[in-house]
Amino acid sequence: MKLHTRIGIGLGLGVAAGLLVNALDLDAGRAVLVALDPVGTAFIRLITMVVIPLVVASLVVGTASLGDVRRLGRIGGRTVALYLSTTAVAVTIGLFLSQVVRPGSRISAETRDQLSQAFAGEAAKKVSLAAEKPGLKDVLLDMIPSNPFASAADGELLPLIFFAIAFGAALSLVATDRRRAVLTFFEGVNDAVMVLIDWIMRLAPYAVFALTAGVTARFGLDVLRSLMVYALTVVAGLALHAFGTYSVLVRVFARLDPRDFFRRIAEAPLVAFSTSSSNATLPVTMETAEEDLGISPEVSSFVLPLGATINMDGTALYQAVAVMFIAQIYGVALGPAEQLTIVLTATLASIGAAGVPSAGIITLVLVLQSVGLGAHTAEGIALILAVDRILDMTRTAVNVTGDLACAACVARGEGEKLIPHPVDHPLRLGGKGAEA
Ligand code: ASP
Repeated sequence: MKLHTRIGIGLGLGVAAGLLVNALDLDAGRAVLVALDPVGTAFIRLITMVVIPLVVASLVVGTASLGDVRRLGRIGGRTVALYLSTTAVAVTIGLFLSQVVRPGSRISAETRDQLSQAFAGEAAKKVSLAAEKPGLKDVLLDMIPSNPFASAADGELLPLIFFAIAFGAALSLVATDRRRAVLTFFEGVNDAVMVLIDWIMRLAPYAVFALTAGVTARFGLDVLRSLMVYALTVVAGLALHAFGTYSVLVRVFARLDPRDFFRRIAEAPLVAFSTSSSNATLPVTMETAEEDLGISPEVSSFVLPLGATINMDGTALYQAVAVMFIAQIYGVALGPAEQLTIVLTATLASIGAAGVPSAGIITLVLVLQSVGLGAHTAEGIALILAVDRILDMTRTAVNVTGDLACAACVARGEGEKLIPHPVDHPLRLGGKGAEA
């Protein structure tokens, strides 16, 4: 059985087990499922463990083998253009759906007050975290690391990406024998990390079960009922974007059959859904891109780490719906000018959000403030917090799918053939190719 099928089964069983103990209110069952948390945490730690070595090694090798720094500029330009335009489309879908469904007008004042009281403390924490967010100037300056090792130690991807690209570009100008020595080292690191990922992914079906069962078992189903229309609006928007926008994108620009595309990449969004983190999923995303879509390491090593940090269509779409929902609840009318502001700020906020769980709800504060909802920020956030985890899982799956869709388009733009070709590295024993 293919790995993504096993992960899918793990996910389905996890959700079913969680829902069952929740619906029957089985305390013992809930305790058992929650006790499985360490299995999920161990998996997240293992997969996060390889992110930094993978990003550095693959980017250095990728940049040094591009051969021409101008090519890097072209790939970078296309990548950023695709990322920004797909995010703007995502926000527009979110705005459109929230006008049609008007989820905010389907909630009673009583439920509203109950929810904002129950989650007031947690919401205040998120708002204060948002206040610590640096401004645009600092965000840009922070991309330049004063110490790349410190960035690596802190898991900061953007400055590390900056350093690895600069280093790789410089390396391509160094005398051949010395360049070869350094490249061989990083190629070895890259290969070893890929083997590690294969090993870690064997745990994925069990980890995904533990992660989703724990979340669903803890989940307050009553709250879901009162926020059902809002949650469904977000999920419908995400589905529309994932299966609509990306299908068009991969068909037109990557010339791939969308169904084949989704079947091949399934592993990455499944892991993203379970971990709620684009960063933690990055190794799986990169492996999927290279082995299942046939994207070259030169393109994937650049496009995907950047995507995990700055391309978050799901997050931006969710923020658009959340802002409209909060505005509708508090009776604040948002006209075309405010909606345009939402397109801009939600796009920027999703770029600023880190690829970690709940990052999107923190940068949502900035979007709320930009359209004059600052006075309702804390209550508004408190209102939607109850269902945030489940929406975080869904939007992260879309974020990662968006990264892969754009990567396929960029690779095709570079003249790459993409699938199908036999996978597996000659040096790697027992990889996916051996299993299929
Ligand atoms: N969890 C999301 C991600 O990692 C970010 C967010 O929307 O909270 O992509």
